[in-house]
Amino acid sequence: MIPSTLEYTKATSIDEAIAAVQAGARPLAGGQSLLPMMRLRLAAPGAVVDLGGVAELVGVCEDGDEIAVGAMTTHRAVAADPLIGEHCRVVAQAASGVGSLVIRGRGTIGGSLAHADPHGDLPAAILAVGGSVIARGPGGERRIEIGDLITSYLTTSLADDEIITQVRLPKGNAQSAYAKFHRRAIDWSIVGVGVAIGPDGVRAAATGVGDKPARVTGFEAALNGGASLDEAAAAAGDGLDPSSDLDGSAEYKRHLVGVLAKRAYLEAQG
Ligand SMILES: Cc1cc2nc3c(=O)[nH]c(=O)nc-3n(C[C@H](O)[C@H](O)[C@H](O)COP(=O)(O)OP(=O)(O)OC[C@H]3O[C@@H](n4cnc5c(N)ncnc54)[C@H](O)[C@@H]3O)c2cc1C
Repeated sequence: MIPSTLEYTKATSIDEAIAAVQAGARPLAGGQSLLPMMRLRLAAPGAVVDLGGVAELVGVCEDGDEIAVGAMTTHRAVAADPLIGEHCRVVAQAASGVGSLVIRGRGTIGGSLAHADPHGDLPAAILAVGGSVIARGPGGERRIEIGDLITSYLTTSLADDEIITQVRLPKGNAQSAYAKFHRRAIDWSIVGVGVAIGPDGVRAAATGVGDKPARVTGFEAALNGGASLDEAAAAAGDGLDPSSDLDGSAEYKRHLVGVLAKRAYLEAQG
């Protein structure tokens, strides 16, 4: 289906992009979620502002205890980045499993978080390491923890006139991994789990278990409390509320969380 008529502009700076969203334009990043939604008429923005010309939004660098990742950095670049691989392997791994090579070459880390798909891989991986985003609007910048950014199905706490400029990943998550269960290589996760073993213990987060990514608190509490890995895996589904659908029953998905959390933990341990 052909999208409805819209106005297209291409920003060349963050300020230009913010001025456009303030005037009502929708940010366009890699277009891998927004364009399919427009074709299906699930979204019909009157104007879009393409962030693809904003050089400041692309790239990865160290900033103290964190890795700063530009919002327009593609999944492919995130997957291959040596800094992210060294300090936050779970995020690189999640990016490497998104869709196909073509989708990874266009889709972006900022777009994945702003889109807030309940089966997205990046939100769960970034939640597992306790990451955050920098959002900028006409009033300035603010930091939003990932757990506070995604509020429900395809919904975030971003204001209409804010864009994500950076994703911030804390260092110290070298021992981390992402495990994904899907039917075919390019499919979205039915369930995916990221695990990070850091100085403060184990953190785990899952996608596909509700309307937003969730911490796997049953698994975390069991392992951090001294339980065995099998006991922790058995407790992993506690408190999670996935829906029953064509991909499987809620009970099956809770079981998958345990299987994947255990798999990711073993891989994170090396
Ligand atoms: C066939 C297919 C398979 C896929 N498989 C997977 C998968 O396995 N796992 C997975 O996680 N994802 C998957 N995706 C989605 C892919 O990861 C997209 O890249 C992602 O969901 C959106 O990123 P984007 O850069 O393309 O954003 P866009 O589609 O351009 O934008 C998505 C939304 O975010 C908003 N937005 C974008 N950037 C910003 C910003 N900087 N600030 C504020 N708002 C912004 C847009 O306005 C829009 O509402 C798949 C997509 C396709 C088409």
